[in-house]
Amino acid sequence: MTQDSTSRNDTLFARAQQTTPGGVNSPVRAFRSVGGTPRFITRADGPYFWDADGKRYIDYIGSWGPAIVGHAHPQVIKAVQDAAAKGLSFGAPTEGEIEIAEEICKLVPSIEQVRLVSSGTEATMSALRLARGATGRDKIVKFEGCYHGHADSLLVKAGSGLLTFGNPTSAGVPEDFVKHTLVLDYNNVPQLEDAFESMGDTIACVIVEPVAGNMNLIRATPEFLQRMRELCTEHGAVLIFDEVMCGFRVGLGGAQEMYGISPDLTALGKVIGGGLPVAAFGGRAELMQKMAPLGPVYQAGTLSGNPVAVAAGMTTLKLVQEPGFYEKLGAAAERLVAGLTAAAKEAGIPFCGDAVGGMFGFYFSNSVPSTYAQMMAGDKERFNRFFHGMLDEGVYFAPAMFEAGFVSAQHSDAVIDETIEAARRVFKRIG
Ligand code: PMP
Repeated sequence: MTQDSTSRNDTLFARAQQTTPGGVNSPVRAFRSVGGTPRFITRADGPYFWDADGKRYIDYIGSWGPAIVGHAHPQVIKAVQDAAAKGLSFGAPTEGEIEIAEEICKLVPSIEQVRLVSSGTEATMSALRLARGATGRDKIVKFEGCYHGHADSLLVKAGSGLLTFGNPTSAGVPEDFVKHTLVLDYNNVPQLEDAFESMGDTIACVIVEPVAGNMNLIRATPEFLQRMRELCTEHGAVLIFDEVMCGFRVGLGGAQEMYGISPDLTALGKVIGGGLPVAAFGGRAELMQKMAPLGPVYQAGTLSGNPVAVAAGMTTLKLVQEPGFYEKLGAAAERLVAGLTAAAKEAGIPFCGDAVGGMFGFYFSNSVPSTYAQMMAGDKERFNRFFHGMLDEGVYFAPAMFEAGFVSAQHSDAVIDETIEAARRVFKRIG
């Protein structure tokens, strides 16, 4: 396996491992799936970041989604600096929180009221609690390969880093918790119908990534989501769209606008914080009013709605509303996928790709997967060689075959074409 000489990265990784488990603060950063030394990042600008050796990379993870307007966007940085100068956190409400809530309610069709939290994990965990509290039921339905953060009930057959580690679930999650979690196959309508047929009146909610980005990129079929909506309505279950990744990423109104389907609750994160910790859950007002202090479902946070983070998020939400933003973002992702596919074909390598708005996936297989099992059948060894080849060339893709990729508004045609040229060289080497 090719690898750069990464002297300073190596030194930092060795040092990090002394005080931090695995040397990282979130598992997928550790390169466990692809092998080699993680790059320690020192700064970022637009579509690029630089590692501790001063090497520049074209960045296709964008902080795993938040960096949609490009890194260190001057307006976002200024908003953060202005907010920080006024104080970092108050533990009392601010007008900025009202503004971002109004903006989210305006932009996401199904959200009438929203509560801000600090991570996607908190957003889905709280949405789940609300669904259970509102229905008085315990059972939840999730789908294999969908990742919804690391709350206990949701760590069953989840995607992302858990696929990397081959853990179907995590140690430390009591059987008693997960016995209420029913895991079904993504895009399998008959199975979902069977589940509702046999236990519909005990299901509190169905939670789904409507565009899945944690088992590489897999789109839900419209029928799958439509039937899910119907079954939830019929049986009084709450439908939760986890749009932490696809919200404000596949389009301004998220996946729900794209598919024309209204969930009862939505989880958001990533883009709405613009690189600082803001996430949210929201939905129908009648449901949201079951939250404390109005209702019996408890949830809270010292840093929830943090003024500096909200300033970054609000500025980002304004920037994505500029005319043509999503057209440009989508065109960049499509140009990348088409160029990579053509380059792989020239080298005779089985390869295909897909893009939804500013999110993309590529697969070392002959057809775009629509299930977790199909995605897992991709050629992992070849992916790993490709990943390292590209890293050598100064292109940073997600360090695991199981993750979607992201472009930003700063990924110009020239940047994409530079990536494709690099891929052409790498495909030849790994063919
Ligand atoms: N839901 C989805 C769909 C995600 O992609 C993620 C994170 N990648 C989460 C929830 C959890 O978000 P966080 O890492 O902010 O806790």
